[in-house]
Amino acid sequence: MSAEIHLFSCLTDNYGVLIHDPSTGATASIDAPEAAPVEAALAEKGWRLTDILVTHHHADHTAGIAALKAKHNCRVIAPRKEAAKIGNTDVTVREGDMVSVGSMVARVLETPGHTAGHITYWFKQDKIAFVGDTLFSVGCGRILEGTPQMMWASLLKIRNLPADTKIYCGHEYTAANVRFALTIEPNNSALRARAEEIVRLLEQKKPTIPTTVQQEKSYNPFLRADLHSVSGAIGMEGANPESVFATIRARKDKF
Ligand SMILES: [Zn+2]
Repeated sequence: MSAEIHLFSCLTDNYGVLIHDPSTGATASIDAPEAAPVEAALAEKGWRLTDILVTHHHADHTAGIAALKAKHNCRVIAPRKEAAKIGNTDVTVREGDMVSVGSMVARVLETPGHTAGHITYWFKQDKIAFVGDTLFSVGCGRILEGTPQMMWASLLKIRNLPADTKIYCGHEYTAANVRFALTIEPNNSALRARAEEIVRLLEQKKPTIPTTVQQEKSYNPFLRADLHSVSGAIGMEGANPESVFATIRARKDKF
């Protein structure tokens, strides 16, 4: 049986996500922005929390861990490089490690840049990746603890996943990301279609995620820094992709 996903809002613009294995009843929360919405989501679905898979140490991804662990005695899995900052950690993981949630298995990809130890959980068989604050739909995370080179390499790792991989990210930032992306590629037809779709979804108060690797490759400027259409648009044709990416990221920081 394939994984079931439940997506819900937390805090101002964070997403909480539960992934549930129907065959064993195991359920993991991806990050824990705050305990109450995770508890409400578990109650709504009738699922029992067995694991918390942490992507990075920021408080808006970890503040709910202590209360959830105290109540459910769940296992907390966290990036080895940030475990000391996260606390309440049972298992630390790094690049290439496998994490089992019931019968489901995630491979750990180190995707630093937003934070120095940020990781992504890729459930290959279920074709799902939980990318935290590394990649957003039509955008990417701010580079707070790394370099543009590091972030570009992390984004390439995600871009290289199978095209039909569903992407769940940590925040609903898509509308602002689309506004920025249109300043880079105003004539990208996939991006223009996405812009229209976003207006419709947000009007209906629906999430704009999950997205897919294939979709993001078609309209996310941060995954397209090695294409002429992007480098040319900012007057950097022929420049290396890291420099193009760094320039776009710096523009977005000021946007
Ligand atoms: Zn963050």
